[in-house]
Amino acid sequence: MATTVFIPTPLRPFTDQQATVQVAGSNVGEVLQNLVAVHPELKNHLYNAENKLRSFVNVYVNDEDIRYLKKEQTAVGAGDTVSIVPSVAGGSPSGDPAAPELNNDEVRRYSRHLIMPEVGVAGQRKLKQARVLCIGAGGLGSPASLYLAAAGVGTLGLIDFDAVDFSNLQRQVLFSTADVGRSKIKAAAERLRGLNPNLRIIEHETALTSANALDIFRDYDVILDGTDNFPTRYLTNDACVLLGKPNVYGSIFRFDGQVSIFATKGGPCYRCLYPEPPPPGLVPSCAEGGVLGVLPGVVGTIQATEAIKLILGAGDPLIGRLLLFDALDMTFRTLKLQRDPDCPVCGDHPTVTKLIDYEQFCGITPQVKAADAGAVSPDLEISVTDLKQRLDAGDIWLLDVREPREAEITKIEGSTLIPLGELPKRLDEIPTDRDVAVHCKSGVRSAKAVNLLREKGFTRVRNVRGGILEWNARLDPDQPTY
Ligand SMILES: [Zn+2]
Repeated sequence: MATTVFIPTPLRPFTDQQATVQVAGSNVGEVLQNLVAVHPELKNHLYNAENKLRSFVNVYVNDEDIRYLKKEQTAVGAGDTVSIVPSVAGGSPSGDPAAPELNNDEVRRYSRHLIMPEVGVAGQRKLKQARVLCIGAGGLGSPASLYLAAAGVGTLGLIDFDAVDFSNLQRQVLFSTADVGRSKIKAAAERLRGLNPNLRIIEHETALTSANALDIFRDYDVILDGTDNFPTRYLTNDACVLLGKPNVYGSIFRFDGQVSIFATKGGPCYRCLYPEPPPPGLVPSCAEGGVLGVLPGVVGTIQATEAIKLILGAGDPLIGRLLLFDALDMTFRTLKLQRDPDCPVCGDHPTVTKLIDYEQFCGITPQVKAADAGAVSPDLEISVTDLKQRLDAGDIWLLDVREPREAEITKIEGSTLIPLGELPKRLDEIPTDRDVAVHCKSGVRSAKAVNLLREKGFTRVRNVRGGILEWNARLDPDQPTY
């Protein structure tokens, strides 16, 4: 007994343009298997590599979604209809008549897209119509924004308030050596306009805060999270959930990357994955722990890929899946993620219904913030020239809390190396019968060490102001800086 299967417009090229197909089978699974047996090109669009129905393909029997019936075991008989309803994030794949036309320059520029069935003129017009916001113009924002601009995403927003630092150039490919010291937003906008003058580049030269996030996000279709700190990550997530904007998440550390898409309708959010932030100081930042320069290139480019797929409504987006990339093993793994019905922001009974204080949420108290900024009270500091005198006199003990790799680059003669992360369990190595000076690269980590040691009862510790960078600049200019 044949069942009528309704084929949606984007899939009709694979059924010889037929809107309905008569297929035999006693349940939905059999009907769909028989359908792809007759029209094998459909298979890729309906099934994934594990031969499971793709997550964005919804199937209805008459007017009921089979997820709430017996899924693919749902029985069908004479007179029943089966409808295939692919979800499309960016509007209808057949094209949005409101999307702007392409000019001749754009037709030439995007010709490699226009000949692809998954993009075509309709898809390229959707890209032109689309508005994507990159949070951060750093390691992830650099490759992501370059590829989004090259691909023709018509409105590209960037939010950042930093200046380009020399140590950014190892991975932040938006910037050139001549940009060091310039505003990141200005340098990035110039580079992106040079790459593609057809675009509208919007410069948000500000810190993202609970006060401005909703207003900034509101004008965009897709948010790309390229942040490097937990408060902004939770803020970005919550703002996306509250506004219903997809959050293309990426994160990097040393050789490891993560990518997913959060905050889509019915999909999980970042808080479903990580309900609580780690305590401050537990997870080192890239500035402290390092990052392989090319890693954000891989992760940011995957984020750009997912953003473009969302706009086109093409393929199988990383919704409900966490992609883990290990550059050392060169492996990609995907873990399944589900929306947590008890999630405080996207769950069934949310407790977070407006943006909160994310620094407080992440445990960043004014004391932690001061220590993060390298602040200890001035009487607990020692200048590099005083330190030199005391070291020459042999009446002070010098502790270096940097990582061993940094000490290989440059170190102060006579110092003892205990990386900040190991300090809590190596307190017995710190002398209590004499003055102790603590240094790191620039004075931030050593300020944390001084605060930690004083909490533990070491009263004779001081922070070396400006760290080894200051020491080398003033006293040992032949030493390298890093
Ligand atoms: Zn959630």
